[in-house]
Amino acid sequence: MELLKGVHAIETLATSTLLVDGRLILIDASIDADAGKLLDYLSRIKVKPKDLSTIFITHTHHDHVGGLAAVKHGSPAKVAAHRIEADFIGRKRVYDGPPGIQSYPGTPVDVPLDDGQKYDGLEVIFTPGHTRGHICLFDPSRSLLIAGDAARNESGLKPMDDRYNVDPKQHRESIRKLAKLHFENAIFGHGTPIVGGAAAKIADLAKRV
Ligand SMILES: [Zn+2]
Repeated sequence: MELLKGVHAIETLATSTLLVDGRLILIDASIDADAGKLLDYLSRIKVKPKDLSTIFITHTHHDHVGGLAAVKHGSPAKVAAHRIEADFIGRKRVYDGPPGIQSYPGTPVDVPLDDGQKYDGLEVIFTPGHTRGHICLFDPSRSLLIAGDAARNESGLKPMDDRYNVDPKQHRESIRKLAKLHFENAIFGHGTPIVGGAAAKIADLAKRV
Protein backbone atom coordinates (compact mmCIF):
# COMPACT_ATOMS: atom_id res chain seq x y z
CA MET A 1 0.00 0.00 0.00
CA GLU A 2 1.07 3.60 -0.57
CA LEU A 3 1.28 4.86 3.01
CA LEU A 4 2.35 8.41 2.17
CA LYS A 5 3.03 9.96 -1.20
CA GLY A 6 5.94 8.02 -2.66
CA VAL A 7 6.20 5.67 0.35
CA HIS A 8 5.08 2.11 -0.23
CA ALA A 9 4.88 -0.41 2.63
CA ILE A 10 5.01 -3.82 0.96
CA GLU A 11 3.79 -6.56 3.29
CA THR A 12 5.27 -10.01 3.03
CA LEU A 13 6.16 -11.76 6.32
CA ALA A 14 8.28 -8.72 7.13
CA THR A 15 7.41 -5.37 5.56
CA SER A 16 9.65 -3.94 2.85
CA THR A 17 9.56 -0.21 2.10
CA LEU A 18 9.87 1.40 -1.31
CA LEU A 19 10.62 5.13 -1.58
CA VAL A 20 9.76 6.74 -4.88
CA ASP A 21 10.80 10.24 -5.89
CA GLY A 22 13.69 11.28 -8.10
CA ARG A 23 15.27 7.96 -7.14
CA LEU A 24 13.94 4.54 -6.20
CA ILE A 25 15.04 3.02 -2.91
CA LEU A 26 14.07 -0.32 -1.42
CA ILE A 27 14.51 -1.10 2.26
CA ASP A 28 14.57 -4.82 3.07
CA ALA A 29 13.78 -7.66 0.72
CA SER A 30 11.16 -10.01 2.16
CA ILE A 31 11.30 -13.64 3.15
CA ASP A 32 10.51 -15.27 -0.19
CA ALA A 33 13.62 -16.76 -1.80
CA ASP A 34 12.21 -15.80 -5.20
CA ALA A 35 11.08 -12.37 -3.90
CA GLY A 36 7.77 -13.27 -5.59
CA LYS A 37 5.36 -10.96 -3.75
CA LEU A 38 7.86 -8.13 -3.67
CA LEU A 39 8.62 -8.29 -7.40
CA ASP A 40 4.89 -8.60 -8.16
CA TYR A 41 4.25 -5.42 -6.19
CA LEU A 42 7.05 -3.55 -7.97
CA SER A 43 5.76 -4.74 -11.31
CA ARG A 44 2.20 -3.59 -10.49
CA ILE A 45 3.45 -0.03 -9.88
CA LYS A 46 5.80 -0.28 -12.88
CA VAL A 47 9.05 -0.24 -10.95
CA LYS A 48 11.87 -2.37 -12.34
CA PRO A 49 14.60 -3.70 -10.02
CA LYS A 50 17.19 -2.36 -12.47
CA ASP A 51 15.95 1.18 -11.74
CA LEU A 52 16.54 0.93 -7.97
CA SER A 53 19.47 3.04 -6.82
CA THR A 54 19.96 1.42 -3.40
CA ILE A 55 18.66 -1.60 -1.54
CA PHE A 56 19.15 -0.99 2.17
CA ILE A 57 19.03 -4.00 4.50
CA THR A 58 18.17 -3.24 8.13
CA HIS A 59 19.57 -6.53 9.44
CA THR A 60 20.63 -10.05 8.62
CA HIS A 61 17.45 -12.01 9.48
CA HIS A 62 16.09 -14.13 6.66
CA ASP A 63 12.66 -12.46 6.64
CA HIS A 64 14.39 -9.21 5.61
CA VAL A 65 17.07 -10.65 3.30
CA GLY A 66 15.43 -13.75 1.75
CA GLY A 67 14.55 -12.10 -1.56
CA LEU A 68 17.63 -9.89 -1.84
CA ALA A 69 19.51 -12.08 -4.33
CA ALA A 70 16.44 -12.27 -6.59
CA VAL A 71 15.79 -8.50 -6.52
CA LYS A 72 19.47 -7.68 -6.96
CA HIS A 73 19.85 -10.13 -9.86
CA GLY A 74 20.55 -8.07 -12.98
CA SER A 75 20.13 -4.78 -11.09
CA PRO A 76 22.95 -2.27 -10.68
CA ALA A 77 21.41 -1.17 -7.34
CA LYS A 78 23.92 -0.84 -4.53
CA VAL A 79 23.29 -3.01 -1.48
CA ALA A 80 23.82 -1.04 1.73
CA ALA A 81 23.86 -2.31 5.33
CA HIS A 82 25.73 -1.63 8.54
CA ARG A 83 29.35 -2.75 8.30
CA ILE A 84 28.85 -5.23 11.19
CA GLU A 85 26.02 -6.88 9.28
CA ALA A 86 27.76 -6.93 5.88
CA ASP A 87 29.66 -10.20 6.31
CA PHE A 88 26.53 -11.98 7.54
CA ILE A 89 24.42 -10.75 4.58
CA GLY A 90 27.26 -11.70 2.22
CA ARG A 91 27.49 -15.08 4.00
CA LYS A 92 31.21 -14.57 4.53
CA ARG A 93 30.56 -15.26 8.20
CA VAL A 94 27.91 -17.43 9.82
CA TYR A 95 25.46 -15.36 11.85
CA ASP A 96 25.87 -16.44 15.47
CA GLY A 97 22.73 -14.88 16.98
CA PRO A 98 19.13 -16.11 17.26
CA PRO A 99 17.19 -17.65 15.64
CA GLY A 100 20.21 -19.46 14.19
CA ILE A 101 22.04 -19.93 10.91
CA GLN A 102 20.51 -17.93 8.09
CA SER A 103 19.69 -19.87 4.95
CA TYR A 104 19.41 -17.29 2.16
CA PRO A 105 22.06 -17.04 -0.57
CA GLY A 106 24.80 -14.52 0.23
CA THR A 107 24.72 -11.16 -1.54
CA PRO A 108 27.74 -8.87 -1.23
CA VAL A 109 27.15 -5.56 0.56
CA ASP A 110 28.51 -2.75 -1.65
CA VAL A 111 28.14 0.07 0.86
CA PRO A 112 29.11 -0.66 4.50
CA LEU A 113 27.34 1.93 6.64
CA ASP A 114 28.11 3.60 9.96
CA ASP A 115 25.94 5.34 12.55
CA GLY A 116 24.96 8.85 11.52
CA GLN A 117 26.07 8.40 7.93
CA LYS A 118 23.87 9.85 5.18
CA TYR A 119 23.56 7.76 2.05
CA ASP A 120 21.21 8.21 -0.91
CA GLY A 121 19.11 10.68 1.06
CA LEU A 122 18.66 8.53 4.17
CA GLU A 123 20.33 8.81 7.57
CA VAL A 124 21.65 5.68 9.25
CA ILE A 125 20.67 5.14 12.89
CA PHE A 126 22.63 2.29 14.43
CA THR A 127 20.21 0.36 16.66
CA PRO A 128 21.94 -2.88 17.71
CA GLY A 129 20.52 -5.49 20.05
CA HIS A 130 17.99 -7.23 17.82
CA THR A 131 20.99 -8.26 15.73
CA ARG A 132 24.56 -7.06 16.16
CA GLY A 133 24.48 -4.52 13.34
CA HIS A 134 20.81 -3.57 13.08
CA ILE A 135 20.04 -0.14 11.61
CA CYS A 136 17.00 2.07 11.24
CA LEU A 137 16.82 4.55 8.38
CA PHE A 138 15.51 8.10 8.66
CA ASP A 139 14.05 9.94 5.69
CA PRO A 140 14.03 13.64 6.68
CA SER A 141 12.10 14.67 3.56
CA ARG A 142 9.07 12.71 4.79
CA SER A 143 9.79 12.75 8.55
CA LEU A 144 9.77 8.97 8.26
CA LEU A 145 11.59 6.37 10.34
CA ILE A 146 11.99 2.95 8.75
CA ALA A 147 12.44 1.02 11.97
CA GLY A 148 13.15 -2.52 10.75
CA ASP A 149 13.03 -4.73 13.84
CA ALA A 150 14.11 -2.04 16.34
CA ALA A 151 10.53 -2.36 17.65
CA ARG A 152 7.28 -3.89 16.43
CA ASN A 153 3.73 -2.59 16.31
CA GLU A 154 1.60 -5.72 16.62
CA SER A 155 -1.30 -5.18 19.07
CA GLY A 156 0.56 -2.11 20.34
CA LEU A 157 4.13 -0.90 20.19
CA LYS A 158 6.62 -3.20 21.90
CA PRO A 159 10.18 -4.56 21.72
CA MET A 160 10.88 -7.60 19.58
CA ASP A 161 10.43 -10.93 21.29
CA ASP A 162 13.66 -11.59 23.22
CA ARG A 163 14.07 -15.05 21.74
CA TYR A 164 14.98 -13.21 18.49
CA ASN A 165 17.26 -10.59 20.10
CA VAL A 166 21.00 -11.17 20.26
CA ASP A 167 21.27 -8.68 23.17
CA PRO A 168 17.92 -7.82 24.82
CA LYS A 169 19.43 -5.06 26.99
CA GLN A 170 21.07 -3.36 24.01
CA HIS A 171 17.81 -3.72 22.05
CA ARG A 172 16.08 -1.62 24.73
CA GLU A 173 18.91 0.93 24.76
CA SER A 174 18.36 1.30 21.01
CA ILE A 175 14.64 2.00 21.61
CA ARG A 176 15.67 4.74 24.06
CA LYS A 177 18.03 6.13 21.40
CA LEU A 178 15.14 6.32 18.90
CA ALA A 179 13.03 8.10 21.52
CA LYS A 180 15.40 11.08 21.34
CA LEU A 181 14.67 11.64 17.63
CA HIS A 182 11.84 13.62 16.04
CA PHE A 183 9.78 12.01 13.31
CA GLU A 184 6.12 11.92 12.46
CA ASN A 185 5.80 8.60 10.68
CA ALA A 186 7.21 5.10 11.16
CA ILE A 187 7.21 1.79 9.30
CA PHE A 188 8.04 -1.41 11.18
CA GLY A 189 9.24 -4.76 9.91
CA HIS A 190 6.35 -6.31 11.81
CA GLY A 191 3.06 -4.59 12.51
CA THR A 192 1.08 -1.54 11.53
CA PRO A 193 2.83 1.60 10.29
CA ILE A 194 2.21 4.83 12.22
CA VAL A 195 1.25 8.00 10.33
CA GLY A 196 1.49 11.07 12.57
CA GLY A 197 2.81 11.28 16.13
CA ALA A 198 5.16 8.28 15.78
CA ALA A 199 8.05 9.71 17.84
CA ALA A 200 5.75 10.35 20.82
CA LYS A 201 4.65 6.71 20.71
CA ILE A 202 8.27 5.50 20.60
CA ALA A 203 9.09 7.83 23.51
CA ASP A 204 6.21 6.27 25.45
CA LEU A 205 7.53 2.78 24.65
CA ALA A 206 11.03 3.81 25.79
CA LYS A 207 9.62 4.67 29.22
CA ARG A 208 8.11 1.18 29.51
CA VAL A 209 11.11 -0.94 28.49
ZN1 LIG B 1 14.66 -9.54 12.73
